[in-house]
Amino acid sequence: MPRARLRDPPTTINLTCVRAARVPRGAITGGGRVTGGHAATGTPCHRVRGETPAEAMFEQHPQEEHPHEDHETSSSDDDCRGRHTLDQVTDLNHAAPYDLVRPCDVKGILHSHSRYCDGAHTLESMVVTAREIGLEYLGVSDHFRSAVHRDGITLDKARSQRDEIEDLRRRYPEVDLLQGVEVDADHDGALLLDDAALDFFDYVIASVPDTVGGDEDPLTDQIVAVASNPRVTILGKPVGDFMLRRSNGMLDMERVLQAAAAGGTAVEINANPCCAELDWSCCKRAQELGVAMVISPDAHRAARLVDFRHGAELAQDAGLYCSSILNTLSSAELRRYLTTGTMPEP
Ligand SMILES: [Zn+2]
Ligand SMILES: [Zn+2]
Repeated sequence: MPRARLRDPPTTINLTCVRAARVPRGAITGGGRVTGGHAATGTPCHRVRGETPAEAMFEQHPQEEHPHEDHETSSSDDDCRGRHTLDQVTDLNHAAPYDLVRPCDVKGILHSHSRYCDGAHTLESMVVTAREIGLEYLGVSDHFRSAVHRDGITLDKARSQRDEIEDLRRRYPEVDLLQGVEVDADHDGALLLDDAALDFFDYVIASVPDTVGGDEDPLTDQIVAVASNPRVTILGKPVGDFMLRRSNGMLDMERVLQAAAAGGTAVEINANPCCAELDWSCCKRAQELGVAMVISPDAHRAARLVDFRHGAELAQDAGLYCSSILNTLSSAELRRYLTTGTMPEP
């Protein structure tokens, strides 16, 4: 089966069509590659010139006899900048800014959950696993309590979590443990916490829960409002919280990315292998706009932290450079970013 090849994706995503045309699970191999042949199952979507979004994003590579030469996107001068020499590939500690991101370039995770909310494992288990898999930092971003996340943390719980984090930081100095929070946005894009409460945390992931709505603007307006909020560090799951569960609606990713660029908000690339296929479709455009991206496993158990590797492979296929990926920064650089909001100069 020939590899599918990425071409310029549509920036308006019809989530209803995407649901129908979604890549079957079996199409993702153990190596995290998307194989060809999945697009034929899609329902026609008239918003992208009669193609399904999946068809619009992938096309069969015509040269089946050269299946290993189709890593690059079809754009011109970007292609040569992303190639690695043997020295670069074997030097895991010194990725150049314009190298395509690799799994080994990801230094830490910023989206994970613990038993303080719906995570399966204790904070300590998460930290120990992060250390075992060689991560330099781990951000725990438990859900703040909302109508959707009734088992989420409150501010009181966040304060006791902070105490435990301080203790773990002393006991596991190899892992820089950060305290983030994942906050739901309501229907007009406002967050459920006021600014003072948001400032308690090291960073804020804002996610738009499944929403009801049939046309483009309400959903897009909601996400644009979130991406424009200066207190939001990362726009979580921009294409949907487990896409098959998003009810419906059209999403204008160009507007979302423009808002993220203007607001200095990073955008998440969901690395969960069950729902990662589309978050990378607009990554290249995000990179053009200078939007920082974060490869996030949204790990609800310790073993899922390693899903960042799958996300990095997708990001590499999408043509993303290390300099676009927030969690390729070192722990010190990341903390500087969280203070200043700017990525280091490549
Ligand atoms: Zn959760
Ligand atoms: Zn989450």
